[in-house]
Amino acid sequence: MRSDVGGGFSTRAIHAGQDPERTTGAVIVPIYQTSTFATDEVGTSKAGYDYSRAGNPTRTALEVALASTEGAQFGFTFASGMAAEDTLLRAALRPGDHIILPTDAYGGTYRLVNAILGPWGIEHTAVPLTDLDAVRAAVRPQTKMIMAETPTNPLLNIFDIPALADIAHTAGATLVVDNTFATPYLQNPLSLGADVVVHSTTKYVGGHSDVIGGALLLNDGELAAKIQLHSKSMGSGSSPFDSWLTLRGLKTLAVRMERHCDNAEKVAAMLSEHPRVSQVLYPGLTDHPGHHVAAQQMRRFGGMVSFRMAGGREDAIKVCSRTRVFLLAESLGGVESLIEHPGLMTHMSVAGSKLEVPDDLIRLSVGIEDVDDLLGDLTDALS
Ligand code: PLP
Repeated sequence: MRSDVGGGFSTRAIHAGQDPERTTGAVIVPIYQTSTFATDEVGTSKAGYDYSRAGNPTRTALEVALASTEGAQFGFTFASGMAAEDTLLRAALRPGDHIILPTDAYGGTYRLVNAILGPWGIEHTAVPLTDLDAVRAAVRPQTKMIMAETPTNPLLNIFDIPALADIAHTAGATLVVDNTFATPYLQNPLSLGADVVVHSTTKYVGGHSDVIGGALLLNDGELAAKIQLHSKSMGSGSSPFDSWLTLRGLKTLAVRMERHCDNAEKVAAMLSEHPRVSQVLYPGLTDHPGHHVAAQQMRRFGGMVSFRMAGGREDAIKVCSRTRVFLLAESLGGVESLIEHPGLMTHMSVAGSKLEVPDDLIRLSVGIEDVDDLLGDLTDALS
């Protein structure tokens, strides 16, 4: 079966789960835009599908391909990254359980845990996951999960995945790694000891800012069965068209990531020399505190660069509205470069919490445009 195709990253991204369609030989997996599937006899199905909330062939193709790129046995895709996280947390946790979160994470993850799962009975502690003693100290008998993101959104901190896996497993807990910033091309958390990988496929995997989606990848069959049950019961799975767009993006992930990394390295180097910039946060810089760990667990350092303005909040806000190539918008990971002010945009929901971000911070999603245009645009905006 070609869907079992092995080989390198791009071969698997382009072929795994994507056999030519049997009736016509169509090379691209069709968008099976159907709610239901006809069968001949009660109690049977033609290819294992009965209703698209429970399963759809376009979604399956994406799930198999993504699982292959993360080296996972099981893959599930969802209507959004948040739907993936919500499905995982409801499948894995029960009221009374406790989870450990980073003090530096996507604001929506914190909001989900704090505002939605808190009232449902899930307790949480936010700790800096770079401080392994603090993580050990936060473990309680009820701790069932450590959720990490590395590199983090928006401070680009790096967490040591094998060390966190050790702590989680000693405590009988599960380590979940949000691999959205790194992508499966640059980092494979399951091979480093994590139990579950989360993606907002909205970002680099989709890659073209035209679809919202999420994914869970794992090797634990028992947890996979619970996720499947929750996805089908909650209706959180990805739609046929969204699955198809995401699958289309996945095929070019490797080439896009190389260019994102090339451009981000040059942008980070330029900003590091700029007198109006007080600090550049990019794990590829040798003075980044997580550089050494990142170099061990990532293939390259990614396309996200954050920096702080020496002139403070007002300067940061001004720069965000002065770029012309970098578009002022939330989200990241698309081919086009984006700029944003996390404190007032993506991370507004963490204001006043331990996850609050500095107000002089700017986050860049460095796209794959010609790098000289990106450098010129930032230089103009900073001048
Ligand atoms: N995880 C990270 C690291 C993110 O940056 C985001 C969104 O920005 C999410 C999860 C949530 O994903 P989505 O917006 O697809 O629901």
